Amino acid sequence: MDVIRKAQRPGAPSPNMPDLERARREFRWDTARAWLDGLPGGGLNIAHEAVDRHAAGARGDHVAIRWLGKHGAVVELTYAELAERSGRFAGLLAALGVGRGDVVFALTPRVPELYVAALGTLKRGAVLSPLFSAFGPEPIAARIGIGRGKVLVTSAALYQKKVAPIRDRLPTLEHVLLVDDGLAQQVADAPVRATEPTSPDDLALLHFTSGTTGKPKGAMHVHAAVIAHHATGKLALDLHPDDIFWCTADPGWVTGTSYGIIAPLTCGVTMVVDEAEFAADRWYRVLAEERVTVWYTAPTAIRMLMKAGPELARGHDLSRLRFAASVGEPLNPEAVIWGAEVLGLPFHDNWWQTETGGIMIGNVPALDVRPGSMGKPLPGVEAGIVQVSDEGEVTEVSEPGVEGQLALRPGWPSMFRGYLGEEARYQKCFAGGWYLTGDLARKDADGYYWFVGRADDVIKSAGHLIGPFEVESALLEHPAVAEAGVIGVPHPVAGAIVKAFVALKPGHATTDELRSELLGFARKRLGPAVAPREIAFVADLPRTRSGKIMRRLLRARELGLPEGDTSTLEGGAS
Ligand code: AMP
Repeated sequence: MDVIRKAQRPGAPSPNMPDLERARREFRWDTARAWLDGLPGGGLNIAHEAVDRHAAGARGDHVAIRWLGKHGAVVELTYAELAERSGRFAGLLAALGVGRGDVVFALTPRVPELYVAALGTLKRGAVLSPLFSAFGPEPIAARIGIGRGKVLVTSAALYQKKVAPIRDRLPTLEHVLLVDDGLAQQVADAPVRATEPTSPDDLALLHFTSGTTGKPKGAMHVHAAVIAHHATGKLALDLHPDDIFWCTADPGWVTGTSYGIIAPLTCGVTMVVDEAEFAADRWYRVLAEERVTVWYTAPTAIRMLMKAGPELARGHDLSRLRFAASVGEPLNPEAVIWGAEVLGLPFHDNWWQTETGGIMIGNVPALDVRPGSMGKPLPGVEAGIVQVSDEGEVTEVSEPGVEGQLALRPGWPSMFRGYLGEEARYQKCFAGGWYLTGDLARKDADGYYWFVGRADDVIKSAGHLIGPFEVESALLEHPAVAEAGVIGVPHPVAGAIVKAFVALKPGHATTDELRSELLGFARKRLGPAVAPREIAFVADLPRTRSGKIMRRLLRARELGLPEGDTSTLEGGAS
């Protein structure tokens, strides 16, 4: 199936953007700014746009969050309640001496307090940095260290298991607030604090992402990002105020913050938050019983639903669902078509990344879907395919179908403003007036974009971006390991899984016991989201003459692909 024609479910509201080309011609970011309120005096604050402006008006009693506990509890928070509690959380931060620019890390399960804390942090003018609860102690220590976190919001169990072992390595951390041990009371006892008059350029969010080498990168986003969150929620996800919206991403990843907190609330919808982890039957029940109208999920989850079989889906009434979107990794055409056949509507793939802060390219409701394509650039986004010469010269590719690096013209409001403390790394992302995304793609004659792969060695596994260096560093801590090289190998459900090639120090035998020990060792340090799933022992690793591991070669050998240019290989031909 080459094209799935755009279609609307009977009774669905008319799309916010009926004509993409026209919107692309007419749209200005200033117009999108005017869709929001702003603070008196010209300020802008994400949390004000997300909750307070609804709370003050007729929508105060509208349910903002409908939380489904993993054991069956349900908690609803109206916009008015969420505004009040987040205002009290801001008051609590103020009482603790936490102010503008201080970094508040969140490492919690998806519980209501997480949303209160996230919004309250933004109201206080502090910087929110959400972490994924499936991280192990090492990734947590690295990120809180780089962010110089002053406050950590977490749970007693996560603290015990993941933070206590590294607590002495976190000298900047002054306060730990436990969501299941006293936080609700502390919030209830705190006075409501007025939202800080933040400016659009004040730092609001710190999202960590991974590169090929070195430490994780803290991508900095400012309050102006809310303009893009809101506009893309409206235009790309087609959110209407009466929608029941479910974003399945955890706020520990950028999608779960931009579209699991900010965009839906700025659009005034009811958002469903499910505390539980993925289970096919549960997910269909949530979609059906909560009468979800717009659903934003990820390819790995869709492939797991496909694996569970169409009968399970057909046993649920999904007739309320009118738009389904996907992000984070390549969405295979079969998955798009499966959606159309089994759920009655195709998945609309869209593309963005931590650095862009919001959706840039998408299969929007106004477009026919080409299964396998990421869609077209949104209004306000100028994208291109470029080729970068060895000298760093950038040329835009004009012919359709030619592969190159996906690039964007800077200037949209949710563009990251830097990697915290790493100006040079930030500057390297820009050339010839473009922001270089690190992804390879092509554009067809009709302007649809097609993902080809990554230009670097980072790994996407189950939607999570993993830096091989972080995994290699953890393995090197084991006394038996001399060298480690880490790559992603294709996997039918997760897209890719992390595989490590390990060379041992003399005196250690390549036994299955040692392999299991190393897998367990890495898992304990890195957590299940990041740790390798496979380890292969090798005598040594291919390195360049300057000593860098040639992961490209490891990958080619693993997959039986041509080895390409090996002239820089240590000991290779010159
Ligand atoms: P993250 O910064 O963790 O959100 O990861 C961003 C990266 O995920 C992008 O640079 C892409 O490599 C990949 N990605 C995101 N969306 C898509 C998509 N729709 N298709 C293919 N890859 C995607």
